[in-house]
Amino acid sequence: MHPLARSLPDDASPDLALRVRADQLHLLFRQSFPAVYISVLVAAIVCQTLWGEVRHELLLGWLFVLCFCSMLRYTLFRQYWKCQPQGLQILDWEKPYALTLFATSSFWGLGMLWFVSESTLLYRLVEFLFLLGMSAGAFSHYSARRYMVMGAMTSVLLPTTLWFVACGQPMEVSLGVAALLFIGVLIQAGNAMSAAQADNFRLTYRLEAARQKAEQMAHTDELTGLENRRAFFEQGQVLANYCERKRLPLSVVMIDADHFKQINDRFGHAIGDAVLRHLAVQLKESRRKSDICGRLGGEEFAMLLPDTPLGEAMVLAERLCRACAGQTLRIDGETVVNTVSIGVASEGYTIEHMLSCADEALYQAKAAGRNRVMAWSDQDVVAT
Ligand code: GH3
Ligand code: MG
Ligand code: MG
Repeated sequence: MHPLARSLPDDASPDLALRVRADQLHLLFRQSFPAVYISVLVAAIVCQTLWGEVRHELLLGWLFVLCFCSMLRYTLFRQYWKCQPQGLQILDWEKPYALTLFATSSFWGLGMLWFVSESTLLYRLVEFLFLLGMSAGAFSHYSARRYMVMGAMTSVLLPTTLWFVACGQPMEVSLGVAALLFIGVLIQAGNAMSAAQADNFRLTYRLEAARQKAEQMAHTDELTGLENRRAFFEQGQVLANYCERKRLPLSVVMIDADHFKQINDRFGHAIGDAVLRHLAVQLKESRRKSDICGRLGGEEFAMLLPDTPLGEAMVLAERLCRACAGQTLRIDGETVVNTVSIGVASEGYTIEHMLSCADEALYQAKAAGRNRVMAWSDQDVVAT
């Protein structure tokens, strides 16, 4: 499996599932606000249409209850905009949202059932058309959460549909059966739509995780976790420019493991890798937060030390050199001693130039017998 794919969040991970649910809820709040007004507006039109058919106190009582439910929902939306819940906080908003939604849609469904039972056939058809319109509206507004779209649609449409099927009149039974088919189709489509949206959110997270991983891999050395050569140069030049602008001293320390080929030959490549990782840990431990530490390649490392004159860089390099020489590593039952040679330079503010100076000093340290530090100066390389 590709290392990238291994690090992507697992679809079944609870963390990803919660984040997807949170995104669905945000979408729900954003896309369903018009439903608050539409519910009241359509209810008023229903009352006006049925004014001559259904008892007025029934219509007005129903309208009043729906207005009250819509007020509750409106308050919930206002709170949502005011609080702007971040991340997973939105999950706390799901319950009140679902409760107010199901209360509204149930009053719609039960109220219309009552009107249907009091109406003649023509008005029943009209009422049924309103119900179909409302359930289609529920489909478009609440599709972000599957159980909400299902719950809203069925609580609006199902009571009247079942009443039609049960009432025994041929026309009503036909309508009821057709409506049951319609509900079935809507449920299927709602399922597919919610699942597609959830997949979309999951994919977005997976892509973002992959992007972050790729970005990290692009500047990190896989073996040691230090910056790789490219990142060292890029970040180093930014730091160097800053030091130049602020007139701060800047030093570079170049470290090369001594006789590393022999270590590989004698103990094997795996132990050689472990020695390199250990060296990287030592570099990390000896650096300050503002220093940049990188693996330039093979058994060669570098540190860039801002606000550090040559003398201070030499002290750090000496300490590091002594620490390496004084350590006996026990790796997989083998005893390994690995010294390093170090070149130090504090020359200009161009990374390439500073590194080539430090490299020259490092070459001299090797030539002088290894396990030592040399500093570069414009006169000559200076031994310590
Ligand atoms: P010197 O003291 O002159 O630096 O000698 P050296 O043997 O360290 O230098 P040389 O350049 O001859 O060899 C470097 C060795 O480092 C050879 C190469 O196999 C080994 N090396 C480079 N990269 C890795 C790595 O990632 N892992 C391991 N285990 N070895 C590596
Ligand atoms: Mg070497
Ligand atoms: Mg080398």
